[in-house]
Amino acid sequence: MMSGNKIYKDLPAVDRVLQEPVLEEVLNNLPRRVVLTAVQQTLENYREAIRQAAAGSSSHVKLDLSPASIAREAALLSRQKSSANLQPVINATGVILHTNLGRAPLAAPAVEAMAGAARGFSNLEYDLSSGLRGSRQAHVEELLCELTGAEASVVLNNNAAAVLLALNTFAAGKEVIVSRGELVEIGGSFRIPEVMAAGGARLVEVGTTNKTYLSDYQSAISDDTAALLKVHTSNYHIVGFTASVAPRDLVSLGQEYGLPVIEDLGSGVFMDLTRFNLPPEPRVQDSVSAGLDLVTFSGDKLLGGPQAGIVVGKRSLVERIRRNQLARALRVDKFTVAALEATLRLYLDEDKAVEEIPVWRMLTTLPSRLRERASILAEQLRTIFGEGSVELWDGFSRVGGGALPTAELPTSLIAVKLNKIDPGELARRLRLGRVPAVARVQQERLILDLRTVEEDHEKLLIEAIREACQDA
Ligand SMILES: *Cc1c(COP(=O)(O)O)cnc(C)c1O
Repeated sequence: MMSGNKIYKDLPAVDRVLQEPVLEEVLNNLPRRVVLTAVQQTLENYREAIRQAAAGSSSHVKLDLSPASIAREAALLSRQKSSANLQPVINATGVILHTNLGRAPLAAPAVEAMAGAARGFSNLEYDLSSGLRGSRQAHVEELLCELTGAEASVVLNNNAAAVLLALNTFAAGKEVIVSRGELVEIGGSFRIPEVMAAGGARLVEVGTTNKTYLSDYQSAISDDTAALLKVHTSNYHIVGFTASVAPRDLVSLGQEYGLPVIEDLGSGVFMDLTRFNLPPEPRVQDSVSAGLDLVTFSGDKLLGGPQAGIVVGKRSLVERIRRNQLARALRVDKFTVAALEATLRLYLDEDKAVEEIPVWRMLTTLPSRLRERASILAEQLRTIFGEGSVELWDGFSRVGGGALPTAELPTSLIAVKLNKIDPGELARRLRLGRVPAVARVQQERLILDLRTVEEDHEKLLIEAIREACQDA
């Protein structure tokens, strides 16, 4: 066992490390305090390594304690610390709405609108015709009503906020009836029973997991009932012997008892998915025309816009949500308003929406086109890594984001197997590269699905793989 204390003394002082030539260039480009902190942290890492070696808990790596070696490490750390934490990444997983990768990429007009709102002042809450105070909600309300047929809308931070606020507004201290088949959990943090509790409402479960009838709702209605809630089971399907109540029937029941009927649609869609050979999803306008009092949905799932929770429905109910004090805490910022307005405008022409909204472009890319792109990219990789290193496989992309859970989108997968580097290590290096790329690892291969890679990012992806393999 080596003596830790003695070896700590062999570590150079901070000032000595700072004199090393490798850090000179770094100091010219980065703030001195960033470099200083990096040197201190590097020295601390060395001390920790020495401690572990002394305790016999680490392998017998010989530590190079020279100032030059420590300075090299510190230079790397300085650069790492001064590059942005939140970075654009290439999504080669084939999962379109990847919640961990930020869900929907925005259409170009939405990005421009956001930048425009960011650069200077805007009429966010200013009515240009009267010169008086306006509403940030006004910029999207007319479009939302036009697209969904609703009377009014209010946009909030996300759909979780929309459901929370709707429940809090109409059912705080009272009961809300929900089918047992619809007590969904999305992404581990949104759970209907918990959101309901947070909104101050009491959950009354009716029916069973697979079957709920109108009579189940009806017999649960009491003086304490404040609303009927329908939740779209957006990330699972119950198959086999099932029964659920159609929105229209629930609406009639609500009307009979004077209770608002609220629907959490999860992913908002305006288009008929079967047009693109995808499984059907309820459209927002169908729920509105079925007479639902309030319908809530996300902005950044199948809508392909910014993170937002959109509520559409009857004007008098929407007004009450807007007046809830919590609405102020859950409101959207100007960037969201800008991006959402621009995204909604694209839907006025469905063909344009499919063309320009990345989520729709990715959803509807034909397998033949994906095959073509994958073959070209595979060929380019073969010229770099050799014939046997790359194969093309048939496979499936996923919609992700808690939408269309059973949809399998046929795609072509590029399967990369290199002798000199293990696929898990290759995937790790790709994630840590200059332009981070995220890929799948399957059957001892790195798997790339180009469905979620923009065509003009293919070059970057090849470059990233090439760099990841350097000195492997
Ligand atoms: C996704 C989803 C939510 C949560 O929406 P966020 O916009 O992520 O807050 C709520 N309910 C359902 C049914 C969903 O699918």
